[in-house]
Amino acid sequence: MREQLVKTAQKLVTVGLNKGTSGNCSIRDEAGFIITPSGVDAEDMTANSMVKMQLDGSFETNKKPSSEWFFHRDIYQQRPEVNAVIHTHSMFATTIACLHKNIPPFHYMIAVAGGGSIRCAPYVLFGTQALSDTAMLALKDRKACLLANHGMIAMGASLEEALAITVEVENLCEQYWRLLQITPTPALLSDAEMQAVFEQFKGYGRWNP
Ligand code: 13P
Ligand code: ZN
Repeated sequence: MREQLVKTAQKLVTVGLNKGTSGNCSIRDEAGFIITPSGVDAEDMTANSMVKMQLDGSFETNKKPSSEWFFHRDIYQQRPEVNAVIHTHSMFATTIACLHKNIPPFHYMIAVAGGGSIRCAPYVLFGTQALSDTAMLALKDRKACLLANHGMIAMGASLEEALAITVEVENLCEQYWRLLQITPTPALLSDAEMQAVFEQFKGYGRWNP
């Protein structure tokens, strides 16, 4: 699990979704979760530097978990279907988040995040319980959200799913950013059209929104 987490943290950098020490990720284990350390470049991470945490916020001695452990913890506590969480400061998600914009249903793939929109949580200081509280509201019935003036959170039943959703949300944000260059009011799908998308996704394969 620790190896898998290191690989994911490094992949987030190699595919350009995170840079430097921005972002973090975690995976659920039997007693709580394992999370990336705080302020460490992904290339310097090892299985041993991953930090095991309990849901009460306690963690392995002589280690420093990601400063964002609050929202990782709250997700594992409140969302039993989730086994992996990824946080990025990726370019396009962060761009839309800095505009304080929810992403509307301009493309059917928005469904992969679990609903007809991806919400943007209001700005709150990083590394706080208060940030987690706003994120949990924005994540209601969703597998991803934006964090104003900060970045995004994505999650899934596995690290693979969480990574796939991260990639897709970033892609949607780039497309939405491009649309906003042309018009402030791109054509949106209706509720009925989105309902049909959810039906079509049933049994589709990778995505199970
Ligand atoms: P950590 O290095 O503490 O995980 O912080 C990175 C980050 O993205 C804070 O929001
Ligand atoms: Zn961050």
